[in-house]
Amino acid sequence: MHEMSIALAVVDQVAGADRPDGAGTVHSVRLQVGELAGVVSDALAFSFSLACAGTVLEGAELVTEPVPARARCGPCADTWPVGMPPRLSCPGCGGASAELLSGRELQIVSVCWNDAPAHPPTHEER
Ligand SMILES: [Zn+2]
Repeated sequence: MHEMSIALAVVDQVAGADRPDGAGTVHSVRLQVGELAGVVSDALAFSFSLACAGTVLEGAELVTEPVPARARCGPCADTWPVGMPPRLSCPGCGGASAELLSGRELQIVSVCWNDAPAHPPTHEER
């Protein structure tokens, strides 16, 4: 399942990153998902909640930020929304040498951490 491997990669990347000082667990992860990345966001959210179990990301929320696909025509420099199904011929001149500007993104934009408990329980308190 495509979404599951993406979710696992995201969890891996976040869990393996350096934590900011005082950070405890992950509150939320913001992920840019391009229109052409072929990701079903419901399936990704479900896979993500499974992939998070037992890691510092357990219970974290996945916030997806859709990125619209845009293409640019080489000869006339026109740009247009590619849409779905993708249109890759230039609406201005009909040229087929379009360059994809955006739409394949699949990257973590930011990670929001919960603060670690300020006063962790100690043996003295028990
Ligand atoms: Zn053109």
